[in-house]
Amino acid sequence: MVIATNAFYFSASHTLHFPTENTAFSYSYTLLPIIQIVMLTIFPLTMRESLSLMTITLACHLWVDSFGGTMTSPDNIASYWLQTVIAFMVVWSQLSQLHMILRLYRQATLDPLTGIYNRRMLLQLAMRALAVSEERHSPFSVLLLDLDKFKRINDKWGHYAGDVVLQSFTRTVQERLRKSDIFGRFGGEEFIVFLPKCSGEVTAQIANRLLEEVESMDVPIDESRTPLKVTASIGISTFQPGDTLSSLIERADSALYQAKAEGRNCVRAYQPGHQTSVDARHSVSRDNIDMPTEASL
Ligand code: GH3
Ligand code: MG
Ligand code: MG
Repeated sequence: MVIATNAFYFSASHTLHFPTENTAFSYSYTLLPIIQIVMLTIFPLTMRESLSLMTITLACHLWVDSFGGTMTSPDNIASYWLQTVIAFMVVWSQLSQLHMILRLYRQATLDPLTGIYNRRMLLQLAMRALAVSEERHSPFSVLLLDLDKFKRINDKWGHYAGDVVLQSFTRTVQERLRKSDIFGRFGGEEFIVFLPKCSGEVTAQIANRLLEEVESMDVPIDESRTPLKVTASIGISTFQPGDTLSSLIERADSALYQAKAEGRNCVRAYQPGHQTSVDARHSVSRDNIDMPTEASL
């Protein structure tokens, strides 16, 4: 658009033989560079992009004026001044637009309490990562983490203490993950880590290490109270041919149920024979895993 408008401005001035004075007819063309700069505010450009586009417009304007020999005429100096003021306003407006877009993006994709991916973003990223793993025939594993007896922390120490525990837990887990791992809050005090390129065996080692880290965590609530201790349980599942993200999460949930049933603070991988009383759990089931559709990715 910028190049087309500048080309039009140049050819119009050329057709009018670069008039040295504005006639009623040529006046509308002289407004083109100003209109163009104002139009840049509509687009969510970065400061660098808008400055580059403005430089093109300015260069074209100066070029046309140098052909007409009117670069230093009072009319043109006034016009340059006006364009500079408008350009500053455009940059300012674009900075705030960009700021707003980034803020909206953060709100739409991150969990406000912990700052990690929210459920929607988590599942979207996981679907993409799973598709890539399937294509490359590389392993893909899932960790479903759930804090143990978390309700008691809320009941005994208050909701604020519970929030602080969730934040500390998230930090501890995140610090131990690779950049390629996808970590997010699945809901309440349940979290998921998707581990691309990780076999079941390696995933079990990672999960055990995470539990040790969580167990050794001291969560300070305030100076007058002793730091809180928490533990978590983890269910693991690893991709098998024919799996979907939903079936993987369901199997990790069955494994998590086993971990809870076998005393908590432990890791269990999905074992087909143990899939008995999953329905008795309140938490994850195929129906309430709200998967994003391919079209929304
Ligand atoms: P289990 O070991 O079987 O997992 O027991 P639990 O107490 O952890 O599990 P339960 O599902 O009974 O309780 C989960 C609690 O997590 C209930 C809910 O109040 C609390 N919770 C969920 N989201 C938040 C949150 O954002 N902040 C706080 N403070 N608590 C939360
Ligand atoms: Mg729990
Ligand atoms: Mg839970």
